[in-house]
Parts: sequence; C-alpha cells; structure tokens
Amino acid sequence: MSCENIANCGFFKKYQESKNLVCKGFMLQFCNGTKEAECERKKYKAAHGTPPSDDMMPNGSMIHE
Ligand code: SF4
Repeated sequence: MSCENIANCGFFKKYQESKNLVCKGFMLQFCNGTKEAECERKKYKAAHGTPPSDDMMPNGSMIHE
C-alpha cells in the first residue's frame, strides 16, 4: 500500500531519491507503508488547507540536511 498522495507530495517528490536514512525510513513506514494515515503532513494540510513545507517529514519534524 502506498499513500494516495504520493504523486503530489512535496516531501516525497523532493526526497524520494535521498540517501538520508531518516528520510528513507519514514518513506518506508509512511509513504510506502502502513502508517500513512498517521502522517503529520496530511494532518497539517487538513488543518490549514495548504501543504506544509516540503521539508516537513511525516512525523512533523523538519529535515535539516
Ligand atoms: S509524506 Fe505523508 S502525505 Fe506525503 S506521501 Fe508520505 S505519507 Fe503521504
């Protein structure tokens, strides 16, 4: 199962090729895993009507590469 938003998600598009293990782990757990319903990016979009920064990870923390 993949997140239904995967084709439009700024985080996924920006970081899908990243070698960053933290990013990769989140993508496995959330974007391509079983936790996508818990994604903080989705909650943000639902609450604000606009997507968060591309640098917000599914757990709500910002990436600092
Ligand atoms: S970061 Fe969240 S909204 Fe984006 S593809 Fe992954 S699970 Fe879906």
